[in-house]
Amino acid sequence: MKYKIKKQYRFYGFVLAGLTLFLYLAFWYVDFLKLQREALEEESYRKTSLEMQSNLEQMILVKQKSTTAIALAIADNREFVKNVAAKNSDAFHYSALIESFRTHTLYQNIWIQIMDAEANVLYRSWTKESGENLLGIRKDLQEVIEKQSVISSINPGRHNLSLRAIVPLMLDGKFIGMLEVISHFNSISKSFAQTDIESVVVLKKEFREQLIHPMTRLFIGEYYIANQDAPHPLMEFLYKHGIENYLNDGYRVETGKIIVSYPLRGLDGEDVGYYVMAKEVSDISHSDLDLYMFKWSAFTIIVLMGIVIVWSGFLYYAKARDKNYYLNVINTSNNIIIINDTTKIVEVNNTFFKFFKEFESIEHIKKRKVCLCDYFIQEEGYLDAVNAGMNWVEYLVQHKSEENKVKLNLYGEIRYFSISASIVSEELGHFAVIMSEITQQENYKRELEYLSTTDALTRIGNRRYFQMKLQEEIARSKRYKTPLSMILFDIDFFKQVNDQFGHDVGDQVLAEYADMIHDLLRENDVFCRIGGEEFVIISPHTALEDARVVAEKVRHVVKESKRIVPITMSFGVVEYRMSESLESMFKRADQMLYTAKEHGRDRVVCE
Ligand code: GH3
Ligand code: MG
Ligand code: MG
Repeated sequence: MKYKIKKQYRFYGFVLAGLTLFLYLAFWYVDFLKLQREALEEESYRKTSLEMQSNLEQMILVKQKSTTAIALAIADNREFVKNVAAKNSDAFHYSALIESFRTHTLYQNIWIQIMDAEANVLYRSWTKESGENLLGIRKDLQEVIEKQSVISSINPGRHNLSLRAIVPLMLDGKFIGMLEVISHFNSISKSFAQTDIESVVVLKKEFREQLIHPMTRLFIGEYYIANQDAPHPLMEFLYKHGIENYLNDGYRVETGKIIVSYPLRGLDGEDVGYYVMAKEVSDISHSDLDLYMFKWSAFTIIVLMGIVIVWSGFLYYAKARDKNYYLNVINTSNNIIIINDTTKIVEVNNTFFKFFKEFESIEHIKKRKVCLCDYFIQEEGYLDAVNAGMNWVEYLVQHKSEENKVKLNLYGEIRYFSISASIVSEELGHFAVIMSEITQQENYKRELEYLSTTDALTRIGNRRYFQMKLQEEIARSKRYKTPLSMILFDIDFFKQVNDQFGHDVGDQVLAEYADMIHDLLRENDVFCRIGGEEFVIISPHTALEDARVVAEKVRHVVKESKRIVPITMSFGVVEYRMSESLESMFKRADQMLYTAKEHGRDRVVCE
């Protein structure tokens, strides 16, 4: 057996595949954006770290230069140089001058060390101890002595990791000693703090041993911290995360902070420590990133909107094409086809307009909110707006197997259609109503029916019609328990009329009197000619006595009228007896008529 997937499932399959592809692309796209964002963030961190390092480099350079400037300025003082040349070691020779630098420059915390030409300490601003010879310990001093040049460097010392400037002191062209000005990293870390950058200046572990009197008394494990204002939380952080990880020439982003390191190089160019800076990531401006993300978001929205517009355009086109296709199909039909909800018309085919001439277009129909049922003529056997308590369309759908007909009044013309309906869209509640015209057949049928039940001479009901009607009325009488009477009558001595005036006149008499009697009767009375000159009236809702009155009236009018030929009639009247047969009732009436004839004619005999 050939395996065929149901169309519906195939559709769901496509939808599922489309959805999967869309989700896959959407995830891929989000991932792509995330990567782009991360790359941009990384770039912005890299830039920030370079900026921080370069700022630091500048500040260190400025600090070194100005430390040197102070040293050179002091060295320029002749009085001072003379005191050094005289190897005066008393503080008062120097303190005034140094004090004036401290008060008049930004360098409140500078330390001064004065040495003679052999590197014997004459004066130290931070201690009273002097006289020590530093020649063996300090390579840099040896260099100054040899070259008599200025040296500026970052140095690990006995007290601190500091910035130093050493200048040779000359008196009359002769080298007489050296002046060392020492400044600290505090001022740099302080100005960084003002821009929300925290600083920890770390002395390399190898120089820990030569630190005899640590100035700040701050340590992270084995590492000495050279700036007094190093924030404790950052120090704790570095301790917890392993300070070694941060002693490099790079940056790390952790727990919302960017931590940037900068190696501090000593005189020989070797690392002597690290300047570690930390800044909150949230403080970093992401304006580039924001602009980039905005561009992408805008691009995404535009692309999505474009897809939606193209897609809905396509759907609209496809729908219009489908609609056109089906309209073409229904327009080829000679039948009227109407798409309808339960109350009004939604769409029609061209044939519709041939019958409903007042409309020009479907818009016109819709505007007038037309219901086909507005044209229905109510009649037994034909569809009505409401049938068996149901809306006509629903009725048609439920009675599809039956033949349903509808009688319409189209601009004064009565037209008949066979009509059927079926659901075309449950969702929209739309039905297709199909109508084919049967006016000719209906008229033909009606004519046949008329002919087969009508007496040709008198144009009243014939025997067949009488039997049909009597059956109906008996049934009705039984059902509703209403009285029903029958008047059977016959012309007296009609043979003589024929004999005397001829058969044609006889016929004329029959027609004339039938006409006259017909006018005397109620609308509900059924009047038939059932034999040559024998008539019957079926009187529904009429009891015996009332029927007798009618019969008397007819007898009287006939007798008095004297049309063409004067005649009289004899009448037998009976009332229907419950559960008796048609034949039995007729037989009784016939007996009454017979009795009337027997008793001299021109009379009414009731049972
Ligand atoms: P009675 O009073 O007993 O009824 O007498 P009658 O002469 O009318 O007798 P009956 O009813 O038995 O006779 C019926 C006559 O009616 C026979 C026939 O000449 C005449 N007749 C029957 N059918 C027609 C008809 O279609 N046209 C004409 N002109 N005469 C008819
Ligand atoms: Mg007769
Ligand atoms: Mg007769």
